[in-house]
Amino acid sequence: MPSPREDSTGALLEPFPRETIGHLPTPLHPLPRLSAALGGPPLWVKRDDCTGLATGGNKTRKLEYLMGAARAEGADGIVSFGALQSNHARQTAAAAAALGFPCDLILVTNVNYHEPAWEVSGNRLLDELLGAKLHIVPDEVAAAQCLQALLGRANEAGKQLYVIPTGGSNAVGALGYVNCASELLAQCQALELRPGTLVSATSSLGTQSGLLVGLHAARSPIRVRGVNTYSPDPESQAQALRRLCDETAALIGSEPPPSDSLCIENGFLGGGYGVPSEAMQRAVEEVARLEGILLDPVYSGKAMAWLLAAVRAGRLNPEEPVVFLHTGGSPGLFAYQECLSGDSTA
Ligand SMILES: *Cc1c(COP(=O)(O)O)cnc(C)c1O
Repeated sequence: MPSPREDSTGALLEPFPRETIGHLPTPLHPLPRLSAALGGPPLWVKRDDCTGLATGGNKTRKLEYLMGAARAEGADGIVSFGALQSNHARQTAAAAAALGFPCDLILVTNVNYHEPAWEVSGNRLLDELLGAKLHIVPDEVAAAQCLQALLGRANEAGKQLYVIPTGGSNAVGALGYVNCASELLAQCQALELRPGTLVSATSSLGTQSGLLVGLHAARSPIRVRGVNTYSPDPESQAQALRRLCDETAALIGSEPPPSDSLCIENGFLGGGYGVPSEAMQRAVEEVARLEGILLDPVYSGKAMAWLLAAVRAGRLNPEEPVVFLHTGGSPGLFAYQECLSGDSTA
């Protein structure tokens, strides 16, 4: 096996402006009680829920590079997008606050789940607390119109807005996960841990693309499995993953990862993006009660549901450790009160 080259991956990132806003490296630790309960491969967790930015999450790593670019371009303000309960929007609001940028968030409400708490609590509450200006719109068409209006107004005022796409998922944002790949490989080397698989929720694909590009650049044999939590159309999502991997590899001048390494697991989306599933609820409870770790209802809960099912079905080699990338999202728990609050008071 060729030796890991994580140091050279780090060097590939050096030319890119970065704001160090995350608490990095995030911990990598075993999940002994969950592993014992399942009886499959040793399970480990990479704690990107602990990136430290206003309750943390995977968008923090992307924002280090996106905010670095915003500052380098002399932006006067930040604008970004998401669903009303977007973790990305909340971390963007926090990063903007920490760096002194005004922040506009355009949030869509067309998620097929509604309860009173979903409308006002969770990430939405935190967005307001963090001082972002919220523009709540029904759908993506209205969001695009809102963006045009904001850009027009800024232009008239002689101000330049830095636009961050949904989920922070362009090649610049994905650099945060190229960096995570190199951080993870260094931790594995120090622990003499040789994982076969890295599992993560996948949605706007910046996380998975960055990991794939970073691991490939370091010649790592770790296989990345992204669990689809967003797209009802697996084919177009697979094409989007190919594109973003190519753009990210081109940006850092490395070789794009081969197509057979691009793996998205479908079947755990349930009723759609942000719609709770039984399997998600059970996974959130199981991990909370066995490990004291809070997953989230929209992403990491569904990704963990896939992992639990795969281990129980004997689909993962019991000899090869598995690392679950915890991408954060626990504020979302408070927006899904009605489906998650169990009957434990009896
Ligand atoms: C955004 C998000 C994801 C998905 O990451 P992408 O880079 O958009 O694919 C996973 N988990 C959580 C908690 C998120 O907020």
